[in-house]
Amino acid sequence: MVKGRRAVVTGSTSGIGLGIARALAAQGCAIMMNGLGDAAAIEKERAGMARQFGIEVLFNAGDLSKPEACAELVGDAERRLGSVDILVNNAGIQHVSPIESFPVERWDAILAVNLSAAFHAIRAALPGMKQRGWGRVINIASVHGLVASPNKAAYCAAKHGLVGLTKVVALETAKTGITCNAICPGWVLTPLVEQQVEDRARHKGISTAESEREMLIEKQPTTRFTSVEELGALAVFLCSPAGDNLTGAAIPVDGGWTAQ
Ligand code: NAD
Repeated sequence: MVKGRRAVVTGSTSGIGLGIARALAAQGCAIMMNGLGDAAAIEKERAGMARQFGIEVLFNAGDLSKPEACAELVGDAERRLGSVDILVNNAGIQHVSPIESFPVERWDAILAVNLSAAFHAIRAALPGMKQRGWGRVINIASVHGLVASPNKAAYCAAKHGLVGLTKVVALETAKTGITCNAICPGWVLTPLVEQQVEDRARHKGISTAESEREMLIEKQPTTRFTSVEELGALAVFLCSPAGDNLTGAAIPVDGGWTAQ
């Protein structure tokens, strides 16, 4: 399975990335964490994970909106962990606004973090994976890589792009022991979505709980959030031998959102 492998999980200081890092760590995989946030809180999480699962957990603070930081993150993991066998491109940001008033700098930032960072990290990680004849690239896209919603121009463009990138990488690595897939979650209650819940509650003058309920009813037929543990378990599955011939897929974990 994944015991003894080494993984880079981008944006693993919070939410889905942290959930995936913890799920891989629980299987005995060494982890290079990355992301923004309070240094003391990140160090507590890093040390706690290492202690709980008895594996090596390191942290790289690279800002992945900068191309050189993505390559440097992979290089840092190769130097300090020994290799990058699993690359999870998860770091992501959101901005919600009609296109006419969409701030240009938010467009640039979303494309940089949600799409280009994955390109730069994959580009840096593939040579080592090819040399060792095994690798897993998992891109955290979104239902918004498969369908659109209004007011999410940059996010939908980036996530559709990430699904396209996933397919190209899968084809280019098809005979190398490497797989590349996209996980496409629907609503997951993380800080990224809590912000949207709060904005909606404020805008409509309703409670947080009502706002959550409305968002689920509107899009996600199961009317419950996907958990970060469910996404972590899927990432572990993709890294297992059962995932050896599963490549180029965009896997929705969306409570039926894209079935409609
Ligand atoms: P989150 O805000 O909890 O976590 C985002 C992570 O990305 C954090 O660790 C943050 O520090 C990191 N990050 C942001 N900008 C960065 C930068 N410039 N450099 C390095 N790290 C950076 O959000 P989340 O919901 O856990 O989102 C994780 C991924 O899942 C994103 O790609 C998001 O688009 C995707 N996603 C989330 C949902 C959802 O409902 N929450 C649904 C579908 C897809």
